[in-house]
Order: sequence, then structure tokens, then C-alpha cells
Amino acid sequence: MKSVDEALSLVLQRTVTLAPVQAPVSDVLNLVLAENITSDIDSPPHDKSLVDGYAVCSADLAQNGAELHVLEEVTAGAVPSKTVLPGTTSRIMTGVPIPAGADSVVMLEHTELLDGIGELPQVRILEERVTVGRNIMRRGTSLRSGEVVLSAGSILRPIEIGLLSEVGRTEVAVYPRPRVAVLATGNELVSPDAIPAAGQIRNSNGPMLKALVEQAGATAIDLGVARDEQDELRQLIERGLMADVLVLSGGVSAGVLDLIPHVLAQLGVEQVFHKVRLKPGKPLWFGVLKSPSSEKLVYGLPGNPVSSLVCFELFVRPALDRLAGRSGDRTATTARLTCEHQQRGDRPTYFPAWLQSDHGQRSVTPVAWKGSADLRSLAAANCLAIFPAGDRQFAAGDEIEVRLFFESH
Ligand code: AMP
Ligand code: MG
Repeated sequence: MKSVDEALSLVLQRTVTLAPVQAPVSDVLNLVLAENITSDIDSPPHDKSLVDGYAVCSADLAQNGAELHVLEEVTAGAVPSKTVLPGTTSRIMTGVPIPAGADSVVMLEHTELLDGIGELPQVRILEERVTVGRNIMRRGTSLRSGEVVLSAGSILRPIEIGLLSEVGRTEVAVYPRPRVAVLATGNELVSPDAIPAAGQIRNSNGPMLKALVEQAGATAIDLGVARDEQDELRQLIERGLMADVLVLSGGVSAGVLDLIPHVLAQLGVEQVFHKVRLKPGKPLWFGVLKSPSSEKLVYGLPGNPVSSLVCFELFVRPALDRLAGRSGDRTATTARLTCEHQQRGDRPTYFPAWLQSDHGQRSVTPVAWKGSADLRSLAAANCLAIFPAGDRQFAAGDEIEVRLFFESH
């Protein structure tokens, strides 16, 4: 039986990042950039005013209360047409190019409009010392034409979407969302809208796994439920093998109707491992199907919902991250136990727990969990507390490893 680390490294050895595609910027939120982005412009494109106010020659304002003739008013989108000479000024709005002759801008709030003499209105400047460059952002201060503003590997958040637009990109190369087919298996399963008859239970794994896939930023393809029947399984699994990843639940334990490994072998899926030294989640099956362009990853997750969830977190999520060009583990940390805990057995236990952080001190409390079929208790959990294999009484204050459930908002 493989250890968790061995199993994960076998999964990752077979996981190759998907080939980049060109996508419209409107579709790339949270994807990973697959090219360096160079700016085609200086930003700002001209020396610009940071305020609404009056463009002036600073040397012209030696004393407080200088009175200047207003040459023109320049609004956003327009350009100044007059040169600001001593004794004159132009009223300009935020973002507007600085007129020739001016070297600073006085905020509107620091001025007083006077009755004009003749044609031109007049303004009094109420600021004492106006320094050169005041309220001006110089051309190219933010970025310069030809400069790399985003590197391949960046995650495209709303900020990056804005920046791409600023530098004129409407299409970019990204790693695509992995396509992940989800198929729940079991004769006992009925749909969530049905009242289960004797011997039946509702299919909770299907919707949960679909949600996990979507939360991981991948595209879920819901194949519904298959009976424990070879032909039906074969048919639905064949459809699932068109995706990049196929996630099955149920049918990989030692039961009479646990047909998944057999059907997968018939369809040419190579088994990489079956069973992992882990609790819950021991029956996990993993294999690959070689296709001309890439390898498809195939997971047979154990049917019990908590086992399915734990196996997804440990072995599916990291592969989805790698397929999509993401790197690094975003969920591992350590914390101190708030209470004692008895660990038993020869498999490490991933125990549902609640992690809290108080002034940087992380503490973790296992929830009252009744085993791999008890999903309900996990509604009060935000992480898995990891207790290594072996019999050991953990004490309050002991530091242990913790794996946060990924949260997206
Ligand atoms: P299996 O791995 O098929 O032997 O299933 C193990 C346990 O998980 C059994 O009690 C199943 O009824 C239960 N189970 C299997 N599939 C699901 C599912 N989709 N939703 C909820 N429970 C399931
Ligand atoms: Mg079953």
C-alpha cells in the first residue's frame, strides 16, 4: 500500500500542465497567464494633472494671493491649446495633459474665482509655496512602453484584468480550465430530490464533487449516477474519458459490486495505484489513460462522502492545480491542539477539525466526527488535522500539521 506522499508524487508524475490557449480577457478570471505581457504604451501617456485645478508656472506665484488670467478650460478627453505664460493660467480637470509653459497645478479648492477684467476671467491663487511638479504625474511613471508588466505564471485576478486592458490586450495566452467529468456509482443511490426507499441513500457525492471541481477553478461535467452494472459503467466511463480528468465515486472497495477497477482495465486505463495508507480514504484507485495528445487522469474515490472529500483534497486538487499551471500548496499549515486527542492505528488520520487564528497563534480543535459516512459533522470543520500513524495520546498544546479546506468567495 502506498503512503500519502508516495501516492501524491505518483499522481503528480503523471500530471502534465495543459497546453496554453488564446482566450478573450473577459474569460480569464482566476486562470494562470501563459505569456509575458509587454506594454504598448507609456502610462500615463502624457504628463497629467492629478487634480481638478489651475495649471500655473510656479515661479510666477512667489507671493500668496497672485491673480492670474484664465486662458481656457480643458476637460477630460481634450488637449490644451494655449501656452501658460507668467500672469496666466488654464483651468484643467484630473487626467488632462499639462499645458505648455505650466509646471504645476493648484487644486481648485485652493483658489478663488474673481470677476473677470475684460474678456478673460481671473483667479486668485491661495497657496503660499507652489513647487515644481506639484499635482502632476509624469508620463510613464506607472509603466513604460516595452516594459514587461505581467509575467507568465501570474494568476489573473481582477487587478490583472484591469492591467491587461490598460496595456491594450483583449486576448491572452492562458492555461485552460481542466475539464473534469464526475460520475457517482452505486445501485443504492437516488437523486437528492427523491425520498430514499428501503436500502437507498441520496447521492451526495456527485453534487459535492462537482462543487469541489468548480471551486478549484476547473470545469465540471456531471455524468450523473451509474448503476453497478458493467455495460452502464463502461458507457458512462467512456464518456468521462473524453475529459482531461475523470472522477468516479464508489465501487473501488472490496465489495461484490465494486466493479470500477475491472471496467477501467477493460477500457485500457492503466492502474497506477490502488489503496493508500490513509484514514479515511484507503480504497482510493488512481490510473491514467494514454491518449495521442496527453494522459487522462482517472480517480476512483471511495464512496463514503468524507473519504471522497479527503481524497479529493489530497490527490485531485493538487493535480487540477498543476494542469491549470498553478504551483505551490496553498492549504498546508501547523497549529496547536486545544484538547487531548487519541490516535490509533497504522494509518495516518486526516481528522475533520476547526482551525482558529488568534493574534497569529493558530489552534485546532477536532470536531465530534463519527467516521467516513458522517458528512454532517464536517459542516463545523474548516480543515483536516493530521495525526500520524501509530498509537499515541496527543496532549493539548501539541503542534500538529493541518490542511485547510480551500475557501473561495
Ligand atoms: P462503495 O465505495 O461503493 O463501497 O461505497 C461505500 C459507502 O459509501 C456505501 O455506504 C455507499 O452507500 C456510500 N456511497 C457511495 N456512493 C455514494 C454517494 N454518491 N453519495 C453518498 N454516499 C455514497
Ligand atoms: Mg458501491
